[in-house]
Amino acid sequence: DSMAKTTHIAVISIPAFSHQASIVEFSKRLVHLHRHFHVYCIFPTIDAPPPATLAMLESLPSNINYNFLPPVHKQDLSHDDAPSMVQIDLAVSQSMPSFRHMLGSLLSTTPLVALIADPFANEALEIAKEFNLLSYIYFPPSAMTLSLFLQLPALHEQVSCEYRDNKEAIQLPGCVPIQGHDLPSHFQDRSNLAYKLILERCKRLSLANGFLVNSFSNIEEGTERALQEHNSSSVYLIGPIIQTGLSSESKGSECVGWLDKQSPNSVLYVSFGSGGTLSQQQLNELAFGLELSDKKFLWVLRAPSDSADGAYVVASKDDPLKFLPDGFLERTKGRGFVVTSWAPQTQILSHVSTGGFLTHCGWNSALESIVLGVPMVTWPLFAEQRMNAVLLTEGLKVALRPKFNENGVAEREEIAKVIKGLMVGEEGNEIRERIEKIKDAAADALKEDGSSTKALYQFGTQMEKFLEQP
Ligand code: UDP
Repeated sequence: DSMAKTTHIAVISIPAFSHQASIVEFSKRLVHLHRHFHVYCIFPTIDAPPPATLAMLESLPSNINYNFLPPVHKQDLSHDDAPSMVQIDLAVSQSMPSFRHMLGSLLSTTPLVALIADPFANEALEIAKEFNLLSYIYFPPSAMTLSLFLQLPALHEQVSCEYRDNKEAIQLPGCVPIQGHDLPSHFQDRSNLAYKLILERCKRLSLANGFLVNSFSNIEEGTERALQEHNSSSVYLIGPIIQTGLSSESKGSECVGWLDKQSPNSVLYVSFGSGGTLSQQQLNELAFGLELSDKKFLWVLRAPSDSADGAYVVASKDDPLKFLPDGFLERTKGRGFVVTSWAPQTQILSHVSTGGFLTHCGWNSALESIVLGVPMVTWPLFAEQRMNAVLLTEGLKVALRPKFNENGVAEREEIAKVIKGLMVGEEGNEIRERIEKIKDAAADALKEDGSSTKALYQFGTQMEKFLEQP
């Protein structure tokens, strides 16, 4: 590959493991399909890169490079007690001068043609325009969430009350209806900084030449069609892009050894993503719910926190085990396995013993469960996870959603009932059959002639056409 023939692209993510992992996997697919592409990944950082990101970056093909921007310090953020997404948002904005500098020096040696940005780093697209680069958004969440983000500036004008007080459900073109209280957490208080920031970000999406969405036609067909009809910029559904797993730390892990000894489809995997947390009260109810259900479980346990994204930016140093109810580990010995803080998720989901996934509905977790054919219990916590739960339960019907009481707590009896329904009930069986079909559709989308492969191919060729224009 001579330098002249190579298509050089820069990518910018945000300081959050799941976004970084997603855009890196995307980059791998991109350079695999377009072998003359070279990708330079740039990561803003809060304090230090997440350990899981460092592990993931250990093995990259030679046509992907990466660099971390100088870290922003958490204590220097103007709102260091704000929800994680706000901290991330502010840290990204503060990183823009160093991003401009890094992009400038990259351009002095490399003829970059385009920038692909995470939606939460989209001020970078303004910088891309200054440097005359094409600009795209890589969108880690669903197409339905992209539709909402594109619609938000109009929605903001149309609805004057809090969205959760709006009597009618929000009907995004081609999507399942969403109740106001199921909209993303940053939309729930319109006077809040989080809402102001997301509104600005959504307005800025119009800068993009196109959107690459981590979803696939089969599960969001109506949404895809509506997005393509109503937008002047191109929308490509190029997923499901998930973690290939098997980083050095996950090999031969103890919990996988435990799974090896269980019978097929017998274990419920319980995890709240890379930083989701429960209150102490909710943690108790979940522990007793697991006990009452009488089913096997593998639980990735984290120390409790009063905010649902309590470990998203910085993890607690407390030992999670000391927050479990007295005697829990003894009573569930042999039936349950507790892992603290982190587990090799895709390896667990692909294990024959795993028969269900109680998930916080982060989009990566949802896609991993779909790709690996594991029925879900939805337990959304923050960001757009409630919308994902609606899509999984009401749209795709591959998950059960427990009821939360008026204080927002799921009680032990309800938890046990839903777990049993998923693992051994009639409804669970129907879900298993349904998700098997979607699993096949996901695999098809990624085949050589599949919808997502074609879309990613089109993206590459259309971008090159743009570049040929005088
Ligand atoms: N993950 C993992 N082990 C854990 C927790 C999370 O490997 O113990 C991975 C998981 O497989 C997924 C990502 O971290 O790829 C979490 O992304 P998601 O979008 O589900 O949630 P978020 O972390 O953004 O809340």
